[in-house]
Amino acid sequence: MMRCPLCGYSKAERILEKRAIPIFTNAPDKFQEDFETYRCDLDQCVKCGHVFQHISKNLKIALEKIYKSERAQITTPLGVGNWGRERAPYLFEKLKRIDKYKKNISVLEIGCGNGYVLKTLKEMGFQNLIGIEPSLKKSERVNGILFIKEFVLKELELHKSFDFIFSIGVYEHIEDIDNITSFSKRYLNPDGELFIFVPNCEKSFLTGDPGIFTHEHLQYFEENSLKYHLSKHGLGVIENQSDHHALAIYAKEIKEISSREDATPYDSYQKKVDNKLKEISNTLRNDNLIVHGACNALNNILGWLGGKFNFTLVDNDATKHGKMFFNKKVQPISALDLASFDTVLIIPPFFSEPIKAAYRKAGFNGQFNTAD
Ligand SMILES: [Zn+2]
Repeated sequence: MMRCPLCGYSKAERILEKRAIPIFTNAPDKFQEDFETYRCDLDQCVKCGHVFQHISKNLKIALEKIYKSERAQITTPLGVGNWGRERAPYLFEKLKRIDKYKKNISVLEIGCGNGYVLKTLKEMGFQNLIGIEPSLKKSERVNGILFIKEFVLKELELHKSFDFIFSIGVYEHIEDIDNITSFSKRYLNPDGELFIFVPNCEKSFLTGDPGIFTHEHLQYFEENSLKYHLSKHGLGVIENQSDHHALAIYAKEIKEISSREDATPYDSYQKKVDNKLKEISNTLRNDNLIVHGACNALNNILGWLGGKFNFTLVDNDATKHGKMFFNKKVQPISALDLASFDTVLIIPPFFSEPIKAAYRKAGFNGQFNTAD
């Protein structure tokens, strides 16, 4: 048994155990690089309640390869295509506290992906910007922003310190989260601020959402677990912009250290997932079905159910239109004769309301089912 990455305790309970499926990398079928399947197991620490993935050596090797490739993200990158652009304002709303800073502060982004956030900050007037990211082609200075091609490791020397250090969608991928927070603290100026943005998994574990698992995510945070992690490093929350979808927490160095509050045991998660899968498999037997969302959650559902299903696959992400995912060609809502369908199964839980609205606006009169 692996030690809890949050508190180090050696006893955990298995809350999800599912058959091996391929890793979802947001790539169309023909660009799938790895046809291996890997187990889907989640454990919850019995002491602090943190949920984490116990990964095999093979999966670890496969993930390292993915992170060095152009397929490092589970969703369409920020700023890319209509979907990447639609997501950006939500994120910048969470990051808004940075506006209170003077534009000459020094800013470090850990895991900067395609650099979209740093480039936007540059356009907003920020001058002193550095990003670290292992999937970059090379280290280089682009338009005044220094991009460093590296993993964040203890040995990495930056030779300067920062007023603001942030990461978006990074902590959930990291095995040794203490290392990345120690690294951030080492490079944070006294009085500097840290901003961490990760998926909020609490609701998914309570409702039995089958989409929360993804091979790339080793850590599954909720508000208390992230706060506890920060407090272990002498960091306290100064602003909290979290919601059901994401944790968005600003922290800085504090004197007193708080302890973990009571954890919620998720021991019935697997049972809830299995009930949900049963419902979804009934829906998937419907012949006049639209499945909306060519995403990680659908990879889990189809992989775990393991059957062949007849459905029309739709996504709002224009970068996926006309491409094959899960052996189905992804179509936009506008390409369909909606009168010939009686049900839409909506996969991504957080966006189900705007998706329903789009179908109604296009004239759909049938029923909606959701996967969460
Ligand atoms: Zn623990």
